[in-house]
Amino acid sequence: MIKNFPTPEDFGKLAQDCLNQAFDVIFDTDKHVYEFYEEALQSEVWEYSQGKLNTAVVLIHQAIEAFMKASICLTSPLLLLEGKRTEWPVMPKQKDKDFNDFYTTPSESLLYTYVATLSRKIDEALVNHIDEIRRLRNQIVHGIPKKKLEPKYLILKVLETHLFFRSKDSWWDSQIESHFNHPLAQYYDATFEFARFAERLDYVEAQIGKSKLAANFTFNIKGRRYLCPVCKGWYEAEAGDEYTHRWAFLKASRKVSTIVQCLNCANETEIVRQNCPYEDCKGTVLLNTDESECCLTCGREIYWPEGYKEAPQVAGSPYDPSIGHVQFDYLTSPNSLIKGNVDNLNE
Ligand SMILES: [Zn+2]
Ligand SMILES: [Zn+2]
Repeated sequence: MIKNFPTPEDFGKLAQDCLNQAFDVIFDTDKHVYEFYEEALQSEVWEYSQGKLNTAVVLIHQAIEAFMKASICLTSPLLLLEGKRTEWPVMPKQKDKDFNDFYTTPSESLLYTYVATLSRKIDEALVNHIDEIRRLRNQIVHGIPKKKLEPKYLILKVLETHLFFRSKDSWWDSQIESHFNHPLAQYYDATFEFARFAERLDYVEAQIGKSKLAANFTFNIKGRRYLCPVCKGWYEAEAGDEYTHRWAFLKASRKVSTIVQCLNCANETEIVRQNCPYEDCKGTVLLNTDESECCLTCGREIYWPEGYKEAPQVAGSPYDPSIGHVQFDYLTSPNSLIKGNVDNLNE
């Protein structure tokens, strides 16, 4: 008999691994260059590092093949075997043979088997996508590649591969899974790393633009953005600097929404809808807990003047939250509402 048949899950996992590696090769090289140097130097770095981008193409190609094999296995992994069926060791007294010891379908035929086993008509855009990556990969593996590769192009191809073979959210879910299920994850500060993981969202958005990134999420990322209180707390508990990634959004609601949801950490936090007291900030989403009060738009902490909280917040009064920015007598500049000033005034 034939032993050790692969499963759709085996190939699915392999495909996700390859795409994560392709993305990481680009992101790990580009993040420092992209943050600290001008565009001309960034291109110079990538001209020098074409080998890394070539590796990303090979990985994307391998991912596409693995996705097709995963789909074929749903019908039968036997469809992946080449050669005569009369050579299959399935008769009595024949010696077992491992699936991996058989010749399997070559690249070009794989697409045909894949399409034949689909229960729907294949999208022409998908055929073009597969063909584009196959040609590129062949140039890299068998010849001298003519196309000068750029990170933006390959990031798009990683995301498109997820969209074609899986669905929205697949890219982000598999990034999170591969980094936080890592055996060493328990040895590093997972909450800090999780908060910082949002830099990948910033990076991809800067590379491919908001609408192309939005196509990869069921979450609507086109709305107004806020700091996530959970990510901000996790990050600032460890780091000396402020948290700057804004990936929280107001949860859709029929009335006024009082919850922000974070795309990065997936947490939901209750917030207060009130104007930020800093005059230079138009924020209306404040975090108000026993430990901290801050504006989730500008990120500054809020220290209300003594008595403010107890004052009746009725319509028309100076404390009416709906009338605009609270006018405190001693606020002469937006930056005056800092802890030192208020503490001094309260003394
Ligand atoms: Zn968060
Ligand atoms: Zn503010």
